[in-house]
Amino acid sequence: MSEIQEIVIIGGGISGLSTLAFLNKFGKKAILLEKQLEPGGVMRSKKTADHILDFGSNSAIEKNLAVRELIEFLELENEVMYASRASSKRYILKNNKLQGLKGPISIAFGGLFSWKAKFRVIKEIWIAPRMSQEDESVASFVERRLGREIVDYVFSPIISGIYAGRPEEISMKANYPKMTALEQNYGSIIKGAFGKMRESMKNKAPKEPKPSKNIFSFKNGMQQFAQSIANKYKEQIYFGAEVQKVEKYHNNYLITYRTNNETKTITSKYIISAAQAFVAKDYFSPLSQKLSLALDKIYYPPVAILNLIFNRSDIKQKLDSFGFLIPEKERKKFLGAIWSSVVFPNRTSTDKAAFTLFVGGTVNKSFVNNLEDSLAIAKAEFMQIMGISAQPLVENHKLWEKAIPQYNLEYPPIFDAIQEFEKEHPQIIISGNYYKGFATGDCIQNAKDNALKLSKLQ
Ligand SMILES: Cc1cc2nc3c(=O)[nH]c(=O)nc-3n(C[C@H](O)[C@H](O)[C@H](O)COP(=O)(O)OP(=O)(O)OC[C@H]3O[C@@H](n4cnc5c(N)ncnc54)[C@H](O)[C@@H]3O)c2cc1C
Repeated sequence: MSEIQEIVIIGGGISGLSTLAFLNKFGKKAILLEKQLEPGGVMRSKKTADHILDFGSNSAIEKNLAVRELIEFLELENEVMYASRASSKRYILKNNKLQGLKGPISIAFGGLFSWKAKFRVIKEIWIAPRMSQEDESVASFVERRLGREIVDYVFSPIISGIYAGRPEEISMKANYPKMTALEQNYGSIIKGAFGKMRESMKNKAPKEPKPSKNIFSFKNGMQQFAQSIANKYKEQIYFGAEVQKVEKYHNNYLITYRTNNETKTITSKYIISAAQAFVAKDYFSPLSQKLSLALDKIYYPPVAILNLIFNRSDIKQKLDSFGFLIPEKERKKFLGAIWSSVVFPNRTSTDKAAFTLFVGGTVNKSFVNNLEDSLAIAKAEFMQIMGISAQPLVENHKLWEKAIPQYNLEYPPIFDAIQEFEKEHPQIIISGNYYKGFATGDCIQNAKDNALKLSKLQ
């Protein structure tokens, strides 16, 4: 006998779990099927007597009001930790040295950019906008408008630090539509930024509440977020339930899943798909080959997280920052390092310092062929940059073979194919970090929008 449910969510990462929470908030019940035996997807944290480590996402930004709304709804305000003041500074590696960045003055007058690059940025005002509306890579847009050095020492480290990607491959249209609009509407991004500022000063309309944009995590690491939702709605979650296929069944859908070596089915009116694209492509193949082919094209580069803890007394570098990012030109095995215990001081005891290194990404995707060697090289490079004289007290890693979906130049037609599928199947909602934004805040905003949409349907 097939179980009957009104709404089924597939996937218990933050996208699926926050959808479950918002659905409950809006008065709708749902069942969530999660393949693993624990919640969180790429949110993975480990707490021991001495330290707290994150093996996936490290923090998130309150980039929209839905994030705060969810935290308050879950009554987690006292569990949230905000990034320390000390971590407001950032470093970029240039010529194997850390260059500090804190505010526009250090960017304009610090040593990160040559004078030639600074003049080239000012020249942007006089550069004619591109006529073509075709998509282009971030590298192509930024080089055209601001010059190559800005690609190499701003966008290369940012894109590899945030997306584990390369500006040469990332789509401008999919990731920075506001910047392209400034060029199109004002003729220049600098003129556009000032124009927007003037318009918002003139606009006397009452100001909408704004998100804080603060960086946050939780006392026990990011997985605490997912775990708190799972604890609250434990009766609505089936762990160890791996969805295999979704088929049309009269006016509903039949979901087949494996659990404890058994095959079971649920008949459901609505489905929210929040598993990764490379999984959804399989379970949706009975419904749409076109969608499956599109999802199959989404590229997820591999990333390994390397957690290291050292004695503070063995570190020469002043610990006064969020961490550093590494431009591709610097040719290192890792993409950057978060100084985890500077950002969230409870990550280890005060006489020690915890760091999280990101290894691999699109730049170094072949590192997986030689994982142990690559991690050893990354550790040695990191120790050299930081002036660390003794081996770490704690060393742990986790490999994500398919880590972060790339909104690259191949992405826009994939987005169109997903939208087309949703039109053909209005009872199915595609969610997850490969659609409408991959950051934690985007996943939560999408979860709220989707839950609201479903709560209004009969
Ligand atoms: C290494 C790393 C670091 C990151 N750091 C940050 C950061 O610091 N800040 C930030 O904002 N974002 C960060 N992100 C991005 C952000 O954390 C993720 O995009 C977000 O957590 C993804 O959530 P999700 O629920 O969409 O997907 P996932 O977390 O991937 O969850 C998908 C879930 O679906 C389940 N599943 C898979 N197949 C099936 C199946 N057949 N049946 C049922 N369930 C299934 C999986 O087990 C998993 O639990 C990071 C991502 C990675 C990989």
